[in-house]
Amino acid sequence: MVPLLDPTRQYQQLKDELDAAALAVLSSGQFILGPFVERFETAAVQTLGVRHALGVANGTDALLLALRAAGVGPGDEVIVPPFTFIATAEVVSLLGATPVFADIEAQTFNINPAAIEAAITPRTKAIIPVHLYGHPAQMKEIKAIAAKHQLFLLEDAAQAWGATLDIDGQTHHCGAIGDAAGFSFYPTKNLGACGEGGLVTFADDAHADTCRALRNHGQSRRYIHDLIGYNSRLQAMQAALLQVKMAHVDEGNQRRRDIAAQYSKALQGTALIAPSEKPGAYHVYHQYTLRVSDGSARRDAITAKLTEAGIGWAIYYPVPLHQQPVYQDLGYAQGAFPVAEQAAAEVLSLPIFPELRDDEVESVIKVLLSA
Ligand SMILES: *Cc1c(COP(=O)(O)O)cnc(C)c1O
Repeated sequence: MVPLLDPTRQYQQLKDELDAAALAVLSSGQFILGPFVERFETAAVQTLGVRHALGVANGTDALLLALRAAGVGPGDEVIVPPFTFIATAEVVSLLGATPVFADIEAQTFNINPAAIEAAITPRTKAIIPVHLYGHPAQMKEIKAIAAKHQLFLLEDAAQAWGATLDIDGQTHHCGAIGDAAGFSFYPTKNLGACGEGGLVTFADDAHADTCRALRNHGQSRRYIHDLIGYNSRLQAMQAALLQVKMAHVDEGNQRRRDIAAQYSKALQGTALIAPSEKPGAYHVYHQYTLRVSDGSARRDAITAKLTEAGIGWAIYYPVPLHQQPVYQDLGYAQGAFPVAEQAAAEVLSLPIFPELRDDEVESVIKVLLSA
């Protein structure tokens, strides 16, 4: 038995620190926003190297509030990859704007800069690259496109806490490269809360001010409401627990990379294709996602074997967004985004989390190679 993820192991390792943090919140009586959230935001600003960081209710809201702060609304188009979690496009639709898909590149599963450029129209207002599976998107090229066309650049960094990218000799954290970024602290993420949580970062002071109001019913001062906003406040309990976990996430990401290296070494010379890393990209392996290149029947055979052996696996994501029922009205044909469609048919994610033991990695490899 090897679980895809086992959050109880991290708790056992950090139990003393996490228990103390939780008790401190309970005895403080300050449960929503407040000093615990402010301390966490300050730590995030320092860790990521961003100008502003605001705790919000979840990662979806982080993206939503960033777009709202940038003024995205009805009539606008926002370019997103078709191969990602639904939230990336959902937030665009929630604001009455239209998601416009641009295909991914085969090597990293991330949005293809050339496809972005081809999808730009006079209505385009923003671009949301996703650092999928923890591999940084091609931000140097995408930033240049955003600058050239004056588009708001929002990073979906939900899967990429701790990932970095070298641009012109300088190392940047994912989430600190665009105009804004959304992080998710869903419990399965590399930095995961014990419940829901999210963070939105901004380079611009005015955007941050707007978002600060938006997350709390559009109020600028107590009971003075300048905007129609949201109830999207980070809970103190989550902030306090996240602050503990934040100190351990780099070490956890390093361990994820060790595990990934073991998997990739084992896949050499097989028909299974290991994920790749671009030069200058520090991949944090939120997922270890390989490709089964010889068709989904072969993938079905492998997953059946894994299931039989009690090994966790997942397919992120089986249906690209342009083929989702909810987006049929956008009118994209089958074959519109061949690279994304092929990825959906080929990807397979294996167990990866910092507390996964080497003997468990070995058993995953054994079953995989015998399948
Ligand atoms: C998890 C995730 C989100 C949404 O985060 P929630 O905290 O679950 O709302 C958005 N985008 C991507 C790519 C994600 O993986």
